[in-house]
Amino acid sequence: MNRLGVLGWPVGHSRSPAMHNAALAELGLADWHYQRLPVPSALFEQAAVALGGSGFLGANVTIPHKQAALVLADEASVAARAIGAANTLSYRPEGSITAENTDAPGLIEALDMDIRGIRALVLGAGGSARAAVWALQQAGASEVSIWNRTPERAGALARELGARAVRTPGPGDLLVNCTSVGLEGPFEASGVERSATEGQALNQLGLTFDQLGEYSNVADLVYRSTPTPLLAAASEQGSRTVDGLQILIAQGALSFELWTGREAPRGVMARVARAQEQDSRAEDRTD
Ligand code: NAP
Repeated sequence: MNRLGVLGWPVGHSRSPAMHNAALAELGLADWHYQRLPVPSALFEQAAVALGGSGFLGANVTIPHKQAALVLADEASVAARAIGAANTLSYRPEGSITAENTDAPGLIEALDMDIRGIRALVLGAGGSARAAVWALQQAGASEVSIWNRTPERAGALARELGARAVRTPGPGDLLVNCTSVGLEGPFEASGVERSATEGQALNQLGLTFDQLGEYSNVADLVYRSTPTPLLAAASEQGSRTVDGLQILIAQGALSFELWTGREAPRGVMARVARAQEQDSRAEDRTD
């Protein structure tokens, strides 16, 4: 059995097992299996290293282990080193561990637009913002600005990566939300309730509804079964939108290709990830 999995804590909510197992089945890789690997921080290094001797060929790494994954690897890609975090580990037959970051190229793939020469604004200064800023710079954006609720963190990230920290979001071609704003809130709102939810989310992100119209492309890393308040408002303003599941699917597909050497069936992965999101929403509503 060729084993794959996702290391995280908690990891119960992860869409990756269903997405990857469906992709493995689609390609007839019957002797491969992808599973959840719930591991707390104190046990992460020991567990991640041990996987290599237990039939594992690879593992995704999620919160809170992405930085630790880079540290334990024997080799790491340029992207993983520059971002300072890895979301994909590969176990080599001779026992070494290689670290890669597919969050960055996954974002660029999901955006599906020419990044060269554009002005991008990244909201947030955490782990995913770091990957997004680096990815956009590498893809040729002429200007990458960073806005964050805690401005000092935006300043520190901007200095480190050679981007520009801003106190108020200015106009641009692309807006990428890398904060967790939009994760909570009503799934289906309409009328006044919907406007209030959107207004509250935009407010938390330092934006107004009119300002949002200055971005022709808006992406949100947050994923849920219905559009996030940010993407709902962006659609109303006529912007092209890219949701967090598209980004999740793209990073997963790139990891899958590293491990199997086969082109990932992205359509199947997308169908399964979206169906899972719908199911979890149904569960949420019966709680
Ligand atoms: P993180 O490192 O914890 O960073 C969280 C960011 O959100 C910080 O910039 C924080 O600002 C900001 N924030 C939190 N609550 C806020 C609020 N109420 N108002 C304004 N800003 C707020 O998290 P992360 O790993 O970057 O992940 C961020 C989001 O992206 C999560 O929802 C995660 O699920 C999602 N994500 C999705 C994918 C995907 O593939 N689609 C991949 C990775 C992450 P402060 O600095 O001021 O605290």
